[in-house]
Amino acid sequence: MKLRGSFDVDAKTVFTIISLTILANGTVLAIAYRSLPDLLRPAARFWQWGTLLIALGCALFAFGEPLPRFVMLTLANGCMAFGLAFYSLALHEVNGIRPDPSLYAPALGVTIGIFWFSAVFPDFKIRVVIAALAWLALALTALQTLFKRPPEQFSSSRKLLIALFSLLFICTAVRLGIYTSMDLPADFHIETGASGWNLVSAIVLTMLPIVGTTAFLMLCSDMLRVRLEHAAATDFLTNLPNRRAVTERGAHMFNEAADSLGGFAVAVLDIDDFKSINDGFGHEAGDQALVHIANRLRQQIRSADMVARSGGEEFIALFKDMDAVHARAVVERMRRSIEGGHFRHADEAIPITVSAGLSARRHDDKSFEDILRRADKALFLAKSRGRNCIEVA
Ligand code: GH3
Ligand code: MG
Ligand code: MG
Repeated sequence: MKLRGSFDVDAKTVFTIISLTILANGTVLAIAYRSLPDLLRPAARFWQWGTLLIALGCALFAFGEPLPRFVMLTLANGCMAFGLAFYSLALHEVNGIRPDPSLYAPALGVTIGIFWFSAVFPDFKIRVVIAALAWLALALTALQTLFKRPPEQFSSSRKLLIALFSLLFICTAVRLGIYTSMDLPADFHIETGASGWNLVSAIVLTMLPIVGTTAFLMLCSDMLRVRLEHAAATDFLTNLPNRRAVTERGAHMFNEAADSLGGFAVAVLDIDDFKSINDGFGHEAGDQALVHIANRLRQQIRSADMVARSGGEEFIALFKDMDAVHARAVVERMRRSIEGGHFRHADEAIPITVSAGLSARRHDDKSFEDILRRADKALFLAKSRGRNCIEVA
């Protein structure tokens, strides 16, 4: 098996080296797997299977000669296509998208198609078209999954994987174009009389397990960092930002407003007699009430604002570029939305109200804490004035 070209390389040697390299990489992944958190293990498993199958596909191309030709072709192409499908599934998992079993369809199609057009109606061109179309479809789904993030959140690992799958897509398309335009007999042996393009797309495919595995592990660690950062800034029960997040954002908004001499208002909202909900209906009802209120509050703010659960049954709302008059109108909407919110637990309507203290930035404020302190005092006043009302500092 000789390749055409200025240098003389045995394709068997190429595939042997490639499959051994892939297996070495698969071993690295197996070692890394043990230190991955549970969250990323399903993704790593899919990637591992993909790597194994592509290595197996390469090995079959290299050593499959003793097998009947249709068996070798069916198994090798099937392994490669299922390997690619597993890569797409791994990317689904790592991006938090539910793995879509329809991804197996192109791989299954290739396996059946290659069998049919090598064992029953041997036709080289149809085989090339079937395999190429499946690779194109699978590369495209992988790319689609990788692009499911705003571009400004693209990490270098994501960019690297995008480059690899794009390269695979382009090479497969070019290879498809070349072979379909050539006048070749149906019993043509691609390994012997092939153009260099036959190897180029195979080499690109095998770059995925090698370079791609490193990029994939980097992507796993990026996703983990993003999830940890999110968890550290989010309240587990209501999924609202937590005290830490609101303090950081508040300080940032304060600095922006101070620099531009713009408006900035802060409200502290506290559920009235919340203890009686817990005591009367149980802690679980109390938890559900907190989620219910969080959802109501979330609906009332603009994307530039923030509402957070600062602790217990207390919430903080930040209003960017807003003075006390406008912020009061928003907080009033929040208060009314909760008062008329019809919270039900175990088929029983439970009335809920909130009190709020509001404060806007003053010229002599030194920090976000200054505004927050005044809002807290105003809340205290609202409570003492009978609850279910708003006081402005
Ligand atoms: P006030 O109108 O003066 O605010 O009265 P209150 O009963 O709402 O205030 P108090 O501070 O006396 O009680 C707050 C209660 O909130 C006590 C605490 O058990 C409850 N609480 C705090 N966090 C949670 C939580 O995550 N879930 C539930 N169910 N209850 C919570
Ligand atoms: Mg309360
Ligand atoms: Mg409280």
